[in-house]
Amino acid sequence: MTTGKINVSVENIFPLIKKFLYSDHEIFLRELVSNATDATLKLKHLTSIGEAKVEYGSPVIEVKVDKEGKKIHIIDQGLGMTGEEVEKYINQVAFSGAEEFLEKYKDTAKDSGIIGHFGLGFYSAFMVAEKVEIITKSYKDEPAVHWICDGSPEFSLEPADKTDRGTEIILHVAEDSTEFLEEYRISELLKKYNKFMPVPIKFGTRTETLAKPEDAPEDYVAETVEVDNIINNPSPAWTKQPSELEDEDYKAFYHELYPTQFEEPLFSIHLNVDYPFNLTGILYFPKLSSDLQVQKDKIQLYQNQVFVTDNVEGIVPEFLTMLRGVIDSPDIPLNVSRSYLQADGAVKKISNYITRKVADKLKSLFTENREDFEQKWNDIKIVLEYGMLSEPKFYEKAGAFVLYPTVDGKFFTLDELKEKLAATQTDKDGKLVVLYASNKDAQHSFIATAQDKGYEVLLLDSPIVSHLIQKLEGDNENLTFARVDGDHIDRLINKDEAQLSKLSDDEKETLKTQLETIVPKQTYTVQLEAMDSQAAPFIITQPEFMRRMKEMSQTGGGGMFGMGNFPDMYNLVVNTNSELAGNILKADDSQREALVKQALDLAKLSQNLLKGEELTAFVKRSFEMIK
Ligand code: ADP
Ligand code: MG
Repeated sequence: MTTGKINVSVENIFPLIKKFLYSDHEIFLRELVSNATDATLKLKHLTSIGEAKVEYGSPVIEVKVDKEGKKIHIIDQGLGMTGEEVEKYINQVAFSGAEEFLEKYKDTAKDSGIIGHFGLGFYSAFMVAEKVEIITKSYKDEPAVHWICDGSPEFSLEPADKTDRGTEIILHVAEDSTEFLEEYRISELLKKYNKFMPVPIKFGTRTETLAKPEDAPEDYVAETVEVDNIINNPSPAWTKQPSELEDEDYKAFYHELYPTQFEEPLFSIHLNVDYPFNLTGILYFPKLSSDLQVQKDKIQLYQNQVFVTDNVEGIVPEFLTMLRGVIDSPDIPLNVSRSYLQADGAVKKISNYITRKVADKLKSLFTENREDFEQKWNDIKIVLEYGMLSEPKFYEKAGAFVLYPTVDGKFFTLDELKEKLAATQTDKDGKLVVLYASNKDAQHSFIATAQDKGYEVLLLDSPIVSHLIQKLEGDNENLTFARVDGDHIDRLINKDEAQLSKLSDDEKETLKTQLETIVPKQTYTVQLEAMDSQAAPFIITQPEFMRRMKEMSQTGGGGMFGMGNFPDMYNLVVNTNSELAGNILKADDSQREALVKQALDLAKLSQNLLKGEELTAFVKRSFEMIK
C-alpha cells in the first residue's frame, strides 16, 4: 500500500474547490460522466489505431445510486488507469490527462470528441462527497488499484482485485448533499447534462413489452423483460451531416430537445463549420407565442455533446436568442465573464457566422418557395425586423427576403414595392410614398379611401415598426412612409387636378376662424381642404412625425429614452366642398357650435377616439336630435 500527499501547493485545496471552483454543485455528475466518456472514447481511439490490442465491444457507462449506503457509483468500461497513472493524473491537481492525450495523438485524435480540458473536473466530486474511491483496471496488463481520499490532501493507493477493464468511481455523499441520493434528482441531472453524450449511459432498468409473435395463440399474454434504461441518445441529429437528414428528422429532434413543445417548428438551420473555429448545431425558428417573456425553451449550448448552459447571451446575436435549438462548440471559452465573451474575437466570429447562416437560410427559403415563406412571415417577422435594427450584417442581407405585406394579403420586397409605387404613389417632392396601416380595424375608413383611389396600403403592425421605418427612410433617400391616417390622402399623395373649391378665399378665412373658436386648440390643428363633395366632411388625422416620435419614445431605442410623454396632437381636416361646411358657415352661433361639436364627435368616433364621459354625452345628444 502506498500513501502520499496530493501534489498541490495550497495546503488544503478541497475547501476551496467546494466553495469556489464551481458555483453549481450539481455539475459533479456531468464531470464524472464526462471522464467516463473520455476514458471510453480514448480506448476506442487506441483500438482503432491498433495501439490497444483489446476488444472494444459496446461499452456502457453506468450510474447507480445506493441510498442506504449513501453512495453514488459511476462505472465505465474505458481504458482504466494503472497505479502509476493514478498517481500522475489524479494526484496532480490541475494536470489534464485529456489535454495530454490530445497532444500526444494530435494527428489522429482531434475529432475523437474528448471532453476534458482543465484537469479539475475530477475534484468537483468533493463538492458533494466526503470521501471518494477509485477502483480501476487498465486495459494494459497490469493489476487493478484502489485509491481512497477523504477530502484531506492525504490519499491511499493499494492493489485491488477488479478483473474487468475500466474504472469505478464511488462517492460517499456528504451530509449536506443528500439530495443527490434521490433517484429522481440524479435522473434529472443526467437528462439535463448528459442527454446527448456519445457513450450510452445506463441508469437503472425498465420493463419492455416484447413484440407479439406472428404465431401467437388467441390467449397470448404480452411478455415483458427488464432492460437497461439508457438515458441518452449518443448520436443526436446535430452530430450528423445535413445530407443524412430529412425534414422529419429535424422535426423529431426538435421534440427530443423540447419534449413539452407540441407545436412544430417553422424551419430549421443546420450549422456546420470547422474552420476557423469548430461549431455544429441546429437552430429552429419556433412559432413564437405572444408572451415573449415566458421563454423557457431556449437555445442550448453544448461542448462535445455535454450540456453547458442555456444562456447563450453574447454567443448568439441578441435577435436570434428568440430561436431554439443547440449549438455545440469546443471553441467557446466558458470560464470567463460574459462581458469578456462579447469582446472576444473568436466569439464575435461565431456570432457573425450564425448571423450569416441564418440570413442565407432565409434567403434560400424565400427563393425556393416564396408562397410558403409568405405564409410564415407573420410568425418570423418580429425576429427579422429586430435583426435588421440591431445587426448591420443582417440588415445588409435582409433586402433579399424581408417582406412588406399589404392589408389585402399581398407581399412585396422593398425593391418590388419601389417599382410598384413608382408610377402612382409619389408626393410633391417626387418621393415614393409608402402608405401603411398599423391596425386594419381602427384605420378602416382611411384604408378604404386609399384603396378606392387604387393605392397600395401596407400592414405594418409589429411593435418596433416605427424604428424600422425611420431606418429605411434614412437609407433610402427617395422613400417616405406615411400612415394612412396621417393626413388626408390627397395631401399624402400628390394629385395633379386640384379640387375646385366651392368656397371663396374670404369664406374659407371666416370658416377657419369659426372652427378654431369651437375646436380645442391644444389638441387639434384645423386644416381646410377642398375635396370631393362626397368625402367625409370632418376627418381627424395624426401627423406622421408626431405619432412616430411618440411610438419610438414608448418602445425605446434610437436614443429616444427619457424624452418624456409626448402629448397627443391631431389635425382636423375639414372638407370645404362638403354640404356641412357650407351649413356651418351660414348657421347662427348656437347652431354652429352644435354642428361643429357633433361633426367633431363623429370624426372622433370613427377613429375610436371618443370615450368615457364624452361618448355618453354624444349618445345623449344624438338621441335628442332624432326624437
Ligand atoms: P480532465 O478531464 O480535464 O483531463 P479531470 O480532473 O476531469 O481532468 O481528470 C483528470 C484525469 O484523470 C483525466 O484526464 C484522466 O486521465 C484521468 N481520469 C479521470 N477519470 C477517469 C476514468 N473514469 N477513467 C480513466 N481515467 C480517468
Ligand atoms: Mg474531466
